[in-house]
Amino acid sequence: MNYISTRNRAVSLTASQAIVRGISEEGGLFVPDEFPVLDAADFEELKTLDYMGRAKKILSLFLNDFSDEEVEACVRGAYAGSFEDDQPAPISRIGSHANVLELWHGPTCAFKDLALQLLPHLLVTSAKKASDAKKTVILVATSGDTGKAALEGFRDVPGTEIIVFYPSDGVSSMQKLQMDSQQGGNVHVYSIKGNFDDAQSGVKKIFTDRAVKEKLAQNGMRFSSANSINWGRLAPQIVYYVSAYCDLLAREEPLDGGFHVVVPTGNFGNILAAYYAKKMGVPICKLICASNANRVLTDFIRTGVYDRNRAFYTTVSPSMDILISSNLERMLFELSGNDDRAVAAMQAELAATGKFTVPDDMREKMQALFWGGTCDDSATLATIRDYFTEYGYLVDTHTAVALNVYRQYVAQTGDDRVTVIASTASPYKFADSVLTAIGEDGTGSQFDRVRRLSEKTGTAVPAPIAALENAAVRFQTVCEKEQMLDAVYGALGILP
Ligand SMILES: *Cc1c(COP(=O)(O)O)cnc(C)c1O
Repeated sequence: MNYISTRNRAVSLTASQAIVRGISEEGGLFVPDEFPVLDAADFEELKTLDYMGRAKKILSLFLNDFSDEEVEACVRGAYAGSFEDDQPAPISRIGSHANVLELWHGPTCAFKDLALQLLPHLLVTSAKKASDAKKTVILVATSGDTGKAALEGFRDVPGTEIIVFYPSDGVSSMQKLQMDSQQGGNVHVYSIKGNFDDAQSGVKKIFTDRAVKEKLAQNGMRFSSANSINWGRLAPQIVYYVSAYCDLLAREEPLDGGFHVVVPTGNFGNILAAYYAKKMGVPICKLICASNANRVLTDFIRTGVYDRNRAFYTTVSPSMDILISSNLERMLFELSGNDDRAVAAMQAELAATGKFTVPDDMREKMQALFWGGTCDDSATLATIRDYFTEYGYLVDTHTAVALNVYRQYVAQTGDDRVTVIASTASPYKFADSVLTAIGEDGTGSQFDRVRRLSEKTGTAVPAPIAALENAAVRFQTVCEKEQMLDAVYGALGILP
C-alpha cells in the first residue's frame, strides 16, 4: 500500500511521509491506493481484544513503514490512562435498536480526542523517518474544540511545540478557560483580535511563507498541521467503527442485515472514517449523514449539487457550522473511481464558483451509500428533551442532531435494524443549551449551570470539566492579527 493524492495519482508516499506533509503540494489529500479487507476470522480475533489491541491491529494495516513496536508505542501513548475507565469508545443502548457510541470520554470531552491523542505520536514517529527537523511545530487556528483537543494531545510530547490561536470573541467561555488554563511545557496559547477566519488566514499565511520556513529550518524546526485533513487524524477514527462492530458481535446483536451508522457531520471526517470501515468489511448498511441548519451536505446527497453559496447559520451545534466540508474530497475520489482529474476539476470549480455538480453515476453511487437529513435548533433541543424524558439518556446538541435525523430515517423508510449513532461530545460541553432543552433556567456562573445540570439529570460532571473550576489561567496574551508571526517566533525563542 502507498499513499496517493486525490488530485494526482502519480504521487506515491509512505504513511510517514503522508502524515508529515499533511496535504499534497497540488492541494490534494492523501489516501491509501488500496484498502485492507478484514474477514470473519479477523473480526473474531479483534472481538477478543481491548480497544488498544484493536487499534494496534487496524492501524498497523495502514502505517506501512512503522514497526510493530512503533505502532504499539503510539497506541499506548495515546490511549493508556487518558480515557475514563480506559474505555475510549463505549456503547450505550437506548431503546431496542439504537446503540450510542460515546466518543467523549477523553481529556477534552469531545470525539476529537480519539484522533488527537494519537496524532502527536504518529507525527513524531513519522518525523523521525521522513524529516530532518529535530522539532515539529504545530500551528492551530481554532474555533474551540480542535484547539483544546490538540493542546491536550501534544502537551509534553517530546520533539514538539504547539501554538494555538483562537478568536477572542469567537469561542465559548468554557472553551476559552479550557485553553487558557492548558498545562504543559511545550504549549502556547494566544487569543487574537478578530474572528475565526482572521485566525485561520493568519495561520495559513505563516504556514506558506518561504522565509519563515527557512528560518525554522535554520533552527532545526518544521511546521506541521493537526487539522482534520491529515491522514493521521482519519486512521484513528476508522478504529472505533471497527471496534463498535466487534462490540455488537460480542453482544450477539442480530446483525444479519448489517447495521446503520448515523454521524453528526461538519467537515465529513468522522462519517468518511465510517465509510472506510465499511470498505474494509464492516457490514454497515446506510451511512446516515446528519446536518444542522447548515444543510449543504444533505442537499448534496439528495441532489448531487454542492453549493456553498447560501446563508451561514450560527447554531446550538457550533462544531457542525461548516459550509466547506474539506474531507468530502476523499469521498469524491472514491465515488469517481479514483479519478484524480475529475476531483481536481470539481475542487477548482468549488474554489472559483462555490459550487459543483457530480455526474449522475456518481450521484447514484452516493445515494446508495448515504442518506442525508437535517434538523434545526428547535428540533435539536426538542430531541434532547425527548430522549431524556423517554430513556433518561442525556445527549449534547451535536448528538441530538444525529438522533433527530435517525428518527426521520426510520419514519420515512420503516427500516429499524440495529443502528450505531456516533455521539461526539459530552452534554456538559454545551451545558447551557442542554439545560434550556430540558426546561431548566440558565442563570448563575457557568459552573453553577454545570452543577445544576448534574443535579437535575442525575448524571456526573466529567472530571476534566469539574477540574476547570479551580484551574489557574496561564495564558492571557491577546495579540493583533498582524502580530501572529511575532508571537510564533516569541514562543519558539527565535529572533525575528
Ligand atoms: C468536529 C465535531 C463534529 C463534526 O465532525 P466532522 O468530522 O468534522 O464531520 C461533530 N460534533 C462535534 C462535537 C465536533 O467537535
